[in-house]
Amino acid sequence: MPSSEFFYHCTCGGLLDIVHDFRGYDAEYLKRLFKERLSERMTPYASGVWRYKELIFPELSDEHIVTKYEGNTGLYASELIEKYTGLKRVSVKAQSENPSGSFKDNGMTVAVSHGKSLGYENFTCTSTGNTSSSLAMYASIANANSYVFVPDKDISMNKVLQTLAYGANVFSFSGTYDDGIQFLEKHSNELGLYVCNSINPFRIEGQKSIIYEIAQYLDWELPEWIIVPGGALSNATALGKGLYDLYSLGLINKIPRVAIVQAKGASPFHKMVNEEKKELTPEPFPKTRASALNIGNPPSWKKALQTLKQTDGITISVTDEEILDAKAIVDKSGIGCEPASAATIAGLRHLVSKQIIDKEESALCILTGNLLKDTDNLRYYHLENNPCTSFKNTIQYSNLTLYNISKKIIGKNT
Ligand SMILES: *Cc1c(COP(=O)(O)O)cnc(C)c1O
Repeated sequence: MPSSEFFYHCTCGGLLDIVHDFRGYDAEYLKRLFKERLSERMTPYASGVWRYKELIFPELSDEHIVTKYEGNTGLYASELIEKYTGLKRVSVKAQSENPSGSFKDNGMTVAVSHGKSLGYENFTCTSTGNTSSSLAMYASIANANSYVFVPDKDISMNKVLQTLAYGANVFSFSGTYDDGIQFLEKHSNELGLYVCNSINPFRIEGQKSIIYEIAQYLDWELPEWIIVPGGALSNATALGKGLYDLYSLGLINKIPRVAIVQAKGASPFHKMVNEEKKELTPEPFPKTRASALNIGNPPSWKKALQTLKQTDGITISVTDEEILDAKAIVDKSGIGCEPASAATIAGLRHLVSKQIIDKEESALCILTGNLLKDTDNLRYYHLENNPCTSFKNTIQYSNLTLYNISKKIIGKNT
């Protein structure tokens, strides 16, 4: 049994938030400390999350840290992406390179470490797939059990299979992600389950590390815009919070503007902001091919609103066609991502073409999930939807024919 039960909501009904006392921290000291830790290997500080432990969860003793050296992901520029978005200075942060293949690892390492430190052995989440694969991975590393609740429709099978493979107990239910959240809010305490969804404030603390790492890699000078996809809006929340930390600690001297991109078929937050409404109206039947964004009632919308306020941020929505076209560009660039991540590239292209972002400005897109997370969409885009490909009707050639055809095609390209 856990030594103390953990609750996610305040008595006012809102989500809990973690507030640190950063007084006494000196920016130069922190920069030096974080730099020294870049040479760590087999200690928790080799992680791209725990490197910044002082800003995330300073009270946790190192023996409780459950880590897979998450973070430490690449930051890339690409000519293809520059051309596609129309921006000269654009880069991407590939959170897709995390151990379970998505940025969820940045938050999950902290949530599972916290739960273990309280004595929990049973962890849970509801998920469109990435949260569950991340949880299942960390629970197994921690010798704990995971119980995950996955909607039976509009999810990527790759993610569910990955979750099963790590050893999770998977419950499939008929309903949406939003129904799953409601179920856990009601029953998790009674079942003795530690909830690892983004209503858990420790997830948010861990996800702040994404922007810390970007800032450190760029020598504490951030681009003018950071573009992030919005589903449950935990990533957008953590981004705003992390930026505010960096600024108030004096680690950066200017806060970039944030653009949150939603998929048109699941864009309640964008609609609320766009129509200047005070409250979010949930969408009961969200529908997008970007399964990680298929959320109609994002739990963190109030916190994400804070991000917009603190960063002079904006929102935008993009169609599934725009998302898949942008994804094809990211994939072809050699970086690769899943559909939800490519919403950032599609959104940036839109914002540049509408001149909301000037061609001379700089931007960074956060790529949230791995190319192999969603092979259904790859099949759909490259094999079913694309008339140029002949892969679908592959014919067996003789060696000589194969040689002649390939010579022709390769000759054309050189
Ligand atoms: C979870 C997820 C998102 C959405 O992030 P939120 O914090 O829910 O807004 C986007 N892309 C991928 C790949 C994800 O796994």
